Amino acid sequence: MNTPHDPNCIFCKIIAGQIPSKKVYEDDELFAFHDIAPWAPVHFMIVPKAHIPSMAHVGTEHEALLGRLMVLAPKLAMEQGCRPYPEGGFRIVTNTGAEGGQEVHHLHVHVMGGPRPWLRG
Ligand code: AMP
Ligand code: ZN
Repeated sequence: MNTPHDPNCIFCKIIAGQIPSKKVYEDDELFAFHDIAPWAPVHFMIVPKAHIPSMAHVGTEHEALLGRLMVLAPKLAMEQGCRPYPEGGFRIVTNTGAEGGQEVHHLHVHVMGGPRPWLRG
């Protein structure tokens, strides 16, 4: 309810259901959906519902939220078809800023996995 929302942000629009997405998970604070251009057989993103632009914007007030996000990642990875550790596994990536390769400025964690080869990465 107090979630900051940027009307020009594509991920805020996805969270609000204004742009369609292939949803993986949703709770009151987090949303997960498939990447539209997957690099790997499994490729989804987890985002906070709050419009935090990047990892460069996080503070101590986000510790619990980001902790929940990181604990959710392996659970969803398995549900989405990543194979068990250590033979399987997954990759977690958060691009930050121009030099970090960030294109969408709403904090997101990529979760990628599945049998190789992958398209990228
Ligand atoms: P990044 O470079 O980390 O900012 O990555 C942004 C990611 O968002 C890219 O991998 C895009 O493929 C993905 N993306 C952009 N628009 C959409 C969309 N409408 N639905 C799902 N994924 C998207
Ligand atoms: Zn946003």
